[in-house]
Amino acid sequence: MRKSKFVFVTGGVTSSLGKGIISASLAKLVQARGYSVTIQKFDPYINVDPGTMNPYEHGECYVTEDGAETDLDLGHYERFLNIPTSQANNVTTGRIYQTVIENERRGEYLGKTVQVIPHITNEIKRRMMLLEEVGKYDIIITELGGTVGDIESLPYIEAVRQLRWELGQDTICIIHLTLVPYLKAARELKTKPTQHSVKGLQELGVQPDILVCRTEHRLNSEIRKKIALFCNVNQNAVIESIDADTIYDVPLLMLKEKLDKVTLARLKLPMRNEPELEAWKDFILRVKHPTNEVTIGLVGKYVELQDAYKSIIESFIHAGAENDCKVNVKTIHSETLTPENAHEKLEGLDGVLVAPGFGSRGIEGKIEAIHYLRTRNIPFFGICLGMQMAVIEFARNVLNLPNAHSTEMNTTSSDPVIDLMEDQKEVSQKGGTMRLGSYNCELKKGTKSFTAYGKSKINERHRHRYEFNNAYLDDMEKAGMMAAGKNPETNLVEIVEIPKHRWFVGVQYHPELKSTVESPHPLFVKFVKACMEYSDEKK
Ligand code: GLN
Repeated sequence: MRKSKFVFVTGGVTSSLGKGIISASLAKLVQARGYSVTIQKFDPYINVDPGTMNPYEHGECYVTEDGAETDLDLGHYERFLNIPTSQANNVTTGRIYQTVIENERRGEYLGKTVQVIPHITNEIKRRMMLLEEVGKYDIIITELGGTVGDIESLPYIEAVRQLRWELGQDTICIIHLTLVPYLKAARELKTKPTQHSVKGLQELGVQPDILVCRTEHRLNSEIRKKIALFCNVNQNAVIESIDADTIYDVPLLMLKEKLDKVTLARLKLPMRNEPELEAWKDFILRVKHPTNEVTIGLVGKYVELQDAYKSIIESFIHAGAENDCKVNVKTIHSETLTPENAHEKLEGLDGVLVAPGFGSRGIEGKIEAIHYLRTRNIPFFGICLGMQMAVIEFARNVLNLPNAHSTEMNTTSSDPVIDLMEDQKEVSQKGGTMRLGSYNCELKKGTKSFTAYGKSKINERHRHRYEFNNAYLDDMEKAGMMAAGKNPETNLVEIVEIPKHRWFVGVQYHPELKSTVESPHPLFVKFVKACMEYSDEKK
């Protein structure tokens, strides 16, 4: 007897149809019916992980508890399901090849020619089934990145084809996500791209069980019938996925379309109870009908691309709902911020978050923004590089150290207030070598952070190489910036605060990676609250 059933989600016609959200929504629905479920993503690119790609290429790099640098879809999985993912939940072609090549060097295939089939496909299959060994998942959903027809997706589709025959029909359900475009001139929805995309899958020996059709207009029964007939699926397995106001609506839309029921029936699993989604619905209600409103600036250098700050944007939605408040996020490009225009760009905002990042582009703009916020007592929240820039700003302008800098940007600074960690100094490889994943932090009583978390022992996820330089801590604290949280094992400063300021908090870690619908992050919740209070005061 197998412990788990498997759902595979493939995509056709175009990219960006929302496979991640569909996977997370289906998972949410079966979870709400009492099944234990997890989601994993297989990405067809050759990087071993997305950690070495820049956000323009890939959007945000999401980090798991165990320190894996992963695709941003894993963030959606965690935000929807409220359970952590791990290294095993994100696999790339690079990682598959790396394993196979290491095996080959060890002599595991002695005498054989190592080939895509069976060696690469076997390794894909092994990884696809790996989470079953955890023993606690009834259903494992696997999202296949890329689009059917891409050269690099072929080994993955082949692995799914083989698995269906090896594991048996009732163990696997294949969902294919396609686009049904609307042609304005013809005033018609068009099914041909879907037909072709399914044909592409069939040519590879894979028959999808369910088609999720992304569309801007409702699918009538005639269209559904046509798609079912031409694509060899039941009519009730043609699922409409209409554009939604928010991604958090999608589970409810999929419930209406019975995606969960059709999937469970396909896997011969009982329906159990009707999904319990009261808390979810209540959350959506608060997102859609808030009584308050604030506008928060997001200062970063990748602001043209919303995906670069995905988890931060979602954390604001969670924290907004918690405060019954709509959070308008106004993005501000850090490269365009100067002492001359800071007032014009930041005036009127109820608070500002200064974003994480790497390298020197745009940092002086970040420092300028922080200076403006600190000296005018406007709520400030700095994350990772945002926190480091707050330390530099304070050192330059309060401690009078005009050369204060991070050695990331200036290796010869006479006042390296942010410096490379000792154990990073020997590191020369770039991939997977930062301080990654969850670390403990001990909060000082009486600080804003302590009040927000309501406890002193916390752990948060990291992704950085540089740190607050403790040689400057005494002077900083005497001058009014304090270490509100420290790593108890290494004494590294994890949080800085200015107690005299209404809300000035900088964190070396990434709180945005742990905010979910069910558990909004306490620092985001309190930051939004501080912005609301400031906004009221201004009125
Ligand atoms: N570039 C900084 C470091 O490596 C900050 C990283 C970040 O913001 N994630 O320490």
